[in-house]
Amino acid sequence: MAVLKYPTAVLRKKTIPVEKIGEDVFKLVEGMIETMLAEDGVGLAANQVGSEYRIFVINVTPSNEDPQPLVFINPVVLDKEGEILDEEGCLSFPDLYLQIPRPEKVRVHAKNLYNEDFVLELSGLLARAVMHEVDHLDGILIIDHASAVEKEKVEKYLEGSSAGAKVSGGS
Ligand SMILES: [Zn+2]
Repeated sequence: MAVLKYPTAVLRKKTIPVEKIGEDVFKLVEGMIETMLAEDGVGLAANQVGSEYRIFVINVTPSNEDPQPLVFINPVVLDKEGEILDEEGCLSFPDLYLQIPRPEKVRVHAKNLYNEDFVLELSGLLARAVMHEVDHLDGILIIDHASAVEKEKVEKYLEGSSAGAKVSGGS
C-alpha cells in the first residue's frame, strides 16, 4: 500500500467506526501492518492508506526484534494524564519533525481483530503514538499542533513539498 501524503483530502476526513470485522477489515489491517513495517513507521492510520475506517496499527518493537504490531479498531481515548514535549514525525509528512506536547499516559479502549474489547494503559512512546493515530482518525495532523515558532518551519516545508510534487509529476 502507498502511504498518502499531505495534502491528500482523505487525511482531513474523520473516519467512520467499523461495524463488522470481516474479510475486508482483515485484508486492510494486514496491508496496513506490512506498510507500516516497510516504511519503518511507529504507527499507521487507515485513512493514510485511503480507507475510511476507524482503525490504526502501532509497532514500537525495536527493529532488531520480531515486530509485535498492535491493532486498534474503533479506538476511544478514555483518560489522559500529564504532558511531555517531544519530537514527532509522520509518514504523511516525510522529513518534517515538530515538537508536539502529548499526554504522558493514556488509557484507550478499542476492539482487536477478533471483535474483542480491550483497554490498555500506555505511557511514553506508545501513548504518543496512540494520540498521533487517534488524531489521524479525526482528520487532525501534526501541523495542527505546530507552535507559533514552528509555524514558519511548517510553511517552508509545505512550500518545498508542493514544489517537489510538481517536479516529480503525478505518479
Ligand atoms: Zn502520522
